[in-house]
Amino acid sequence: MKKFIKEFREFINRGNVMDMAVGIIIGGAFTSIVSSLVDDIINPILGLFGGMNFDQLKWNILGEVTLNYGKFISAVLNFLIMALVIFTIMRVMNSAAAKLNHNKEEKPAAPTTKKCPYCKTEIAIDATRCPHCTSMLEETKETK
Ligand SMILES: [Zn+2]
Repeated sequence: MKKFIKEFREFINRGNVMDMAVGIIIGGAFTSIVSSLVDDIINPILGLFGGMNFDQLKWNILGEVTLNYGKFISAVLNFLIMALVIFTIMRVMNSAAAKLNHNKEEKPAAPTTKKCPYCKTEIAIDATRCPHCTSMLEETKETK
C-alpha cells in the first residue's frame, strides 16, 4: 500500500496530470462556449436568412417519427468550429515554441566571454589584456 501511495504521488508530481486536469476543465468550458456560439448566434443568423429556425429543422417520416437533421447540422457546425479554433491555437503555440527553440539555439552562437589562454579565467570577449593575470591577448577569434 505504501508503494502504491508513493507511486501515485510520483504520478501526480510529474506535472502532466495537473496539465491534463487544467486542459479538461478548460476544454469543458470551451465546449459550452462553442455550443453557445452555434446555438445562440450562428443558428439564429442562418435562420434569419433561411426564414426558419435552423435547430428545428426536421423531416417527418412517419407520424411521430422525425429526423432532426437541423440538430445534426448544428453538431457538425460545432465540431467544425471547434476543430478550426483548436487548429488555430495549435498553430500559434507551435510557432511560439519554434521561436523559443530558435532563440535558445542562437544564444550559444554569440558568446560574450572567452577564456584567457594563460590563467583560464572567463573574461570579456573583446578584451585585449587579461584583467586577472594582465597577459596581453592576441587578437584571435579563439574562444576556448
Ligand atoms: Zn589571464
